[in-house]
Amino acid sequence: ALTIGIVGLPNVGKSTLFNALTKNTVLAANYPFATIEPNVGIVNLPDERLNVLAGVFASERIVPATVSFVDIAGIVKGASEGEGLGNQFLANIREADAIAQVVRAFTDDDVVHVAGAVDPSGDLETINTELMLADLQTLEKAVTRLEKEVRGKKADPAVLAAAVEAQKALGEGTPLSQVKGLELGLLKELGLLTAKPVIYVFNVDEGILTDTAKTDALAAIVAPAQAVFLDAKIESELIDLDPEDAAELLASTGQTESGLDQLARIGFDTLGLQTYLTAGPKESRAWTIGKGWKAPQAAGVIHTDFETGFIKAEVIGFDDLVAAGSVADARSAGKARIEGKDYVMQDGDVVEFRFNV
Ligand code: GDP
Repeated sequence: ALTIGIVGLPNVGKSTLFNALTKNTVLAANYPFATIEPNVGIVNLPDERLNVLAGVFASERIVPATVSFVDIAGIVKGASEGEGLGNQFLANIREADAIAQVVRAFTDDDVVHVAGAVDPSGDLETINTELMLADLQTLEKAVTRLEKEVRGKKADPAVLAAAVEAQKALGEGTPLSQVKGLELGLLKELGLLTAKPVIYVFNVDEGILTDTAKTDALAAIVAPAQAVFLDAKIESELIDLDPEDAAELLASTGQTESGLDQLARIGFDTLGLQTYLTAGPKESRAWTIGKGWKAPQAAGVIHTDFETGFIKAEVIGFDDLVAAGSVADARSAGKARIEGKDYVMQDGDVVEFRFNV
């Protein structure tokens, strides 16, 4: 499954946020037999459309898409020097598809700040510097090895060229995800940390959540990367409340969406994912696919037989289906399209696949 690794300096609120993540009842409800690691939290991707579909089809249950988060502790200033970043840290972060970096912006004299003062831009620079230094070390070794291999015609010169270019960019302080024209795919085997997309999670005081001057200023520090603003303490309270009380607490902070929901939504987008929908009396469900996927590949997410035996897909746009009120009415209104194997899936397609077994 696609996962987002959570990193950040000590005492920024990672554990508080992560506790909220793991208290989610997602798995218990939908995947009763799944076992999950203690450092993994799974969040539902909020999707109002599923509620609407469940109404139209009188579905017994709703199964939303999910986003997984892995808690990756162990990064401090100077981590890449001396003993280096811990092996466990590196292994965990290399496996993550994207990184969510938690940055402390809350003030609390009772919570010690590792660098002495609350300094969001300084902190995120510290973390990013450690990640860049780790990549530089990786690249230094790789370039030496690749030079030999290219001479012996055992490696592609294009890979070496990309590695050298990456080294240069990092030397100038640019994380690899931001280097234009660099073919990161060539360097995939190196597991470079700054090649991963990053979301910045600012853990702020409650009052700041609605202070757009302050949040805009923080967002500007990390642009073009995405920023999420939340109060980890409130998130951990929200998760213990029933939906009505949670909505009330959220409203009292001036928000309409919890930080965890925001994080799931933005994480999903950062990973280049989208969903299509299926609906019936048993369940209304969202299925996770990549942007640009074609119909057979999308069908394969439900079952591999659906991909290998793919014949066609009946597709109704969500809005068309809701306007028509039922599949039969959508069909007679000419809103149900029969699509073949080259159809590129669109977010919110409501689909029924036809296949041979
Ligand atoms: P970690 O080291 O990054 O995992 O940080 P923790 O989650 O353990 O948080 C460190 C301390 O800060 C704990 O005492 C938390 O209760 C406190 N803390 C976390 N988030 C917030 C917050 O949003 N506001 C305030 N005031 N305290 C927080």
